[in-house]
Amino acid sequence: MKLFQIVYITTVFQVLVFFLLFARTSIAEKKLRSVVISSIAFAALLPAFYGYFFLFTANPSILIILPAVIVLFAVLFFAPSGKSTAIVITDSTERVDERDTMFAREEYTQGTEKYERYYSMRPEYRKIDDRIRRLPELLAPGGKFYQPERSGYIASLFEIEERLITMVDGSVNPIRSKFEPEQTSMLLKEMTIHLGADEVGIADLNPNYVYSHVGRGPEEWGSEIENTHRFVIAFTVEMDYRKVDEAPGIGITEETALQYLNAQKISIALARYIRDLGYPARAHVAGSNYQIMLPPVAYDAGLGELGRLGYLISQKYGARIRLGAVTTDIPLITDPIIQFGVQDFCEKCKKCAVNCPSGSIPYDEKMVVRGVEKWMLKIEKCFQYWRIIGTDCGICMKVCPFSHPDTLIHDILRKGIRNSSFARTISLWGDDLFYGKKVKFPKFTE
Ligand code: SF4
Ligand code: SF4
Repeated sequence: MKLFQIVYITTVFQVLVFFLLFARTSIAEKKLRSVVISSIAFAALLPAFYGYFFLFTANPSILIILPAVIVLFAVLFFAPSGKSTAIVITDSTERVDERDTMFAREEYTQGTEKYERYYSMRPEYRKIDDRIRRLPELLAPGGKFYQPERSGYIASLFEIEERLITMVDGSVNPIRSKFEPEQTSMLLKEMTIHLGADEVGIADLNPNYVYSHVGRGPEEWGSEIENTHRFVIAFTVEMDYRKVDEAPGIGITEETALQYLNAQKISIALARYIRDLGYPARAHVAGSNYQIMLPPVAYDAGLGELGRLGYLISQKYGARIRLGAVTTDIPLITDPIIQFGVQDFCEKCKKCAVNCPSGSIPYDEKMVVRGVEKWMLKIEKCFQYWRIIGTDCGICMKVCPFSHPDTLIHDILRKGIRNSSFARTISLWGDDLFYGKKVKFPKFTE
């Protein structure tokens, strides 16, 4: 066989394998549309490639055109091209008051002193918050996806999390172990993964990401939060793809509760170990116990980029993650932030905004919020929708193209997305084609 024929066969074989792998991955993902399209592509390309070979096998100058086009496409897909914008962060000393977060505001009961104190301080939130308060509570009867048994199961997981809050901090061993920062960093990262985290990184703790005042939890409401720890160890836990795919049904809230519990276990155990080594450490966990804002510290720790949907997007799992963190003074080595094309991709994509049933995700440009240029989620609208349906919705997490499972085929595509503007455009087009631009789910209003 001649060289140009071998080149032809080898090149088209790789294209066919790509579509076969895509079909296989789609079967595992249970995505019928994607299975059908990738199978049709394979079935159509196989005879087309064979016919082309058969027709032009004696004419190298024509036969080689098709492999040349395929190779050119691959080069454009993987070679660095176009802008790869970073998140712009400027100096700001403004901190977020935890009393203003949505989960704190939903706890202010009408007629209580806390309610009066808060809304005399922030009258602009009273009307919308009262409106939200009139809706059924999350996991309570009246929510559209309420199911007594499953809602009760989730509530029991959250109940355990509330009880574990007392374990986030404690006494520090007066005998301090001595390690080199490199050694400690490696050791603590290994332990974080062993405890069940999927990704881990270390950053200097930016004091701007510490909440200014207590808004929830056992500490005195409105008291100033003082956390002067130097470092933060942040980590992700993956949310199960199938459970996220149930969004906005109750399955995603089961998974949220479970992964919060896992994150809580990891951070409490890690913080405890660091205190046993003789250094202060505090776990930050869901269930009214954060002292810090997790998405920006996780960004600083190199765990991902902030996306249009307002959450962190991990390189491996996309938006399908929950975060946990431990702040500490044990000497550590920090990790660099990472960029893998999310800002440029989100500029083009807007899939989360298109699918958001409450209109909470912006279509327009980023805005500067406390020194960070980002897309700003309309949190009240989002939370209002949660209360209507009784789950934490998660449609944005489910449709985000970065949220596909961490499989060979998606990893190949992510490699292109990281470097090439061409790959980002093609991948977005492909995601719409293979998975659909709009997902189908029941629409609810109050
Ligand atoms: S969770 Fe649902 S309502 Fe909230 S931003 Fe995402 S898609 Fe919109
Ligand atoms: S769905 Fe698209 S626009 Fe939204 S966060 Fe994901 S990549 Fe960005």
